[in-house]
Order: sequence, then structure tokens, then C-alpha cells
Amino acid sequence: MIKQYRIHIESKKRRELIDISEKINKMISEEKDHGLLNVFVPHTTAGVIINENESGLKNDIIKTFEKIVPENGDYEHNLIDNNADAHLLSIILKNSVNIPFVDGKLLLGTWQSIFFVELDGPRQRNIIITAIS
Ligand code: ZN
Repeated sequence: MIKQYRIHIESKKRRELIDISEKINKMISEEKDHGLLNVFVPHTTAGVIINENESGLKNDIIKTFEKIVPENGDYEHNLIDNNADAHLLSIILKNSVNIPFVDGKLLLGTWQSIFFVELDGPRQRNIIITAIS
């Protein structure tokens, strides 16, 4: 069976990590089977990652984004839309992750959380969750 859900979030900063694990866990808590969950971000200036929710690490990730793709680089896209860095980071991060689940629980490791990654906020954002069981 395939079920689909949507999450709506509102980011507050230009670059921001938003933990969406709890919201997703609640959505699939009724699932009875084994299956695979796809978390898809339908945006070109955002991404989704799985990693540890620790405040120092979250700052390190944001700082590393700036080292890899500086906000104020010399980008052609900035001539028409001032967010080339956000597009470039989105390509590096990817738009979706797949997570297995069993009996309503995601099989994430102890230190794994799912983050929506805002790269050009603050904005209204959508996330599409597809559960295949
Ligand atoms: Zn753009």
C-alpha cells in the first residue's frame, strides 16, 4: 500500500536545520507493516539530511555550508535571483531520503534525526512523505 502525507513548515532563518523526525514519526505511527518511507523536498533551494541533533554540530554544519558555498560568491544566477548559493547547496544535499520502518516506527539509528535544511529562508515550505508498505 502507498500512503502520502504532507508537512508544512515555516523557516525562520536564511540557513537553518529543522528537525522533522517527530512529525514524521507521528504520521507513520499507525502503519502496521514493514515498509520504506520517502521524504521529498519539492524545492530547489532546500534539502533534507539525516544526522545528529546536537546544537554544536548544527552550528558546525551551517558553518561548513558557508565554507563550501559562500553566500556572497561570484555567481551568474545572482544577476536574476540573489540565491545561487542556496541552489548549489541544495544540489550537494539532495532532495530526498529513504528510511525503512517497521510497525509504525522508523528504523533510524540512536543518533539519527531527519532535518529539513533551509538554504534560502525565511520561507513557507512543503515536504512530501510517501510510505510504501
Ligand atoms: Zn534562484
